[in-house]
This record gives sequence, C-alpha cells and structure tokens, in this order.
Amino acid sequence: GGSEDDSHYFESYSGNDIHEIMLKDSVRTDAYRDFVYGNKHLFKDKVVLDVGCGTGVLSMFCAKVGAKKVIAVDNSAIINKAAANVFENSLDGVITCIRGKIEEVTLPVKQVDVIVSEWMGYVLLYEAMLDSVLFARDKYLAPDGLMVPSECKILIAAMHDSEYMNDSVDFWNHVYGFSMTAMKEKIREDVAITGLNSSSLASEPIAFCHLPLHTIRTSDLTFTKPFQLRIKQNVESLDAFVIYFDTFFATSRNQLVPEDARAESWKHGEGGVAFTTGPFGKLTHWKQGVLLVDRRGGLLKEGEIINGEVTYKKRSGNSREVEVEIEWKTENRKDKQMWYMR
Ligand code: SAH
Repeated sequence: GGSEDDSHYFESYSGNDIHEIMLKDSVRTDAYRDFVYGNKHLFKDKVVLDVGCGTGVLSMFCAKVGAKKVIAVDNSAIINKAAANVFENSLDGVITCIRGKIEEVTLPVKQVDVIVSEWMGYVLLYEAMLDSVLFARDKYLAPDGLMVPSECKILIAAMHDSEYMNDSVDFWNHVYGFSMTAMKEKIREDVAITGLNSSSLASEPIAFCHLPLHTIRTSDLTFTKPFQLRIKQNVESLDAFVIYFDTFFATSRNQLVPEDARAESWKHGEGGVAFTTGPFGKLTHWKQGVLLVDRRGGLLKEGEIINGEVTYKKRSGNSREVEVEIEWKTENRKDKQMWYMR
C-alpha cells in the first residue's frame, strides 16, 4: 500500500461510522458469513489470518466454525475494539488481535492455512489494500492454502442516462435561479461513486480484468486491458462509462470462475459464494463508479460496437489513489480520457 499517506489512511478506519457502514452492507457481510458458515470444513482446526480485521467480524465468523487459531491484524486503533469484541464473545481463546501493518508485524506462526480479508475499494483497487493482502499471501500462506475471497473481476459498461446528466451536471445551470457553471469545471475529472439503475446502461457490462487471488502478482495491479461493448438500443449519446466489480469465494484453489461468469448468475455449486456491486444487484456501499465523458458525441446505434482499452495506474504522489484511463472508438469517433479515483 501507499506509504506516503498511511497515517491518514489508518485514521480513517479508527471510528465507528465506516465499520457500521461496512457491517450494514449486507451484500458484503452476508457473503463472507455465508461462505464461512457454509464451508465449516475449510476452517475447522485451521490457522486463519484476517488481514485488516476492523471490528473483528470475519475473525469471529471463522472462530465460530471451529478454526484452531485466528490471527486478526489491523493497523488502525479499531483493533482495540476488535479485541474487546472478541473478549465479549468469549473467542479470545482462539482469536489473537495484533496491531500493526501486516507488512511489519511479527505473527505468532510462520504459516497459515487460510487468509480472509475484505480489502476491496471503489472501482475495486482504490486504497491499494490488495497489495498488503498479496504481501501476506506470499509471506504466510501455505502452498495449498486458501484465499477468501478467491477471485474478483472488474467490469465496464457504456452509460446513457439523461436524468442522471440533468441531475448531476446540468443541475449547476439553474441553482435557485442562479447559474453556477464554474461548479461543472472538474466534474468530469473524478470518478463519481453513484448507485445506478440497470436502465442507465447502454450496453451489457463486460469483464475486462480478472484477478485470481491465489496467483496474481502486485505488478498485475497496474494494467491496460482491452474491452468491447455492444450498444443495446439506439441512444442519443454516450454519457459515461460505468465501472464496478464482482467478488467470488471458491472452496478450492483450483476452482476458477469461468471467463463469462457473472456474480449474479454464477452457480454457487460446491459451497461457492459470489456477490456483485453492479447495477443488476442490490446496492452495496461501493455503489458504482461513473466516469463521465468530456465529449458525449452523437447517436449510438443498436448493435454498434465500442472498442477500447482501460488502464489502471496508481496515482503518483498518492499510491492509494487510482488513475483510470480509457481509450475508445465508436463507428465515427475516437476518444481518450483520464479520471481520478481520489
Ligand atoms: N475485516 C473488517 C474490516 C475491513 S476494512 C470487515 O470486514 O468488516 C479494512 C481494514 O483493513 C481497515 O480496518 C484497515 O485499517 C485495515 N488495513 C488496511 N491495510 C492494512 C495493513 N497493511 N495492515 C493492517 N491493517 C490494514
């Protein structure tokens, strides 16, 4: 993770509010619970490492189904609450809470059987916490050990939504009888985190990046990937791209999710669990990333193809922030734009 801004980063996890938001995100928390409670055999008598334990909820799930030992690590002051929560639920015989960065702490064991972590950020890689989880994997996970979750996919779709454009951009043209167009200047520079309806999508979403967590390397977290979107019906303009992620929990290292599988339709056979943060599922606290385009262009016809490439990069100066660049081509124009997730 980004060393430049770490104290602020861990501060942001020290209060109740953010943990309350995460715990109340039932799509998120239910998925972890269902996977752990539905696959007790994967945790029973095992040594588990919880990277970034927060309130300790995931550690307690694992302890409840019979883990031999759970090591709960967090570098935020929330670790003190985690320890209290563990004690209050009489799980302190199983769960050991340690404050520190996973990159720096000394663990009471050399190797663990399972790593559980909730590291996902906006547009998946905001916060760059996955770097820390991969560090933990390479240092502590047994060769046949399990990552929970085991795989993520990042998806993209084309967006056309006049109501959204009126509400978020054109809004500034008429504010209580005043024009405030200066407010619009940078509106297209940042990824907007918004919960959309699936009717905002002008194409089906396409997964452009797969992250198999047992094997992916830190260097794979900076990438340029191609995508191809097919316009579903005639729309007046391309207003934005939408980016979100799906998360999969497989019961073994070898159970990879098929290329075209999506979380909402993945067959949860053999105890697997998945959730989507996309507009076809129940809204999560990650919502979706809306990347407004500078030049909306004209009509897009049904069946028209948008060919493009997405680049994800860490932002120079704050490596927990992400730069997303998209280069794309429709039938009659070519374009390129960059957005910040900060
Ligand atoms: N596991 C909890 C909290 C998830 S939020 C839950 O699911 O509810 C992520 C947590 O990871 C935060 O509390 C943050 O402080 C911690 N964290 C992030 N990077 C870390 C690192 N490198 N070392 C230790 N803790 C980290």
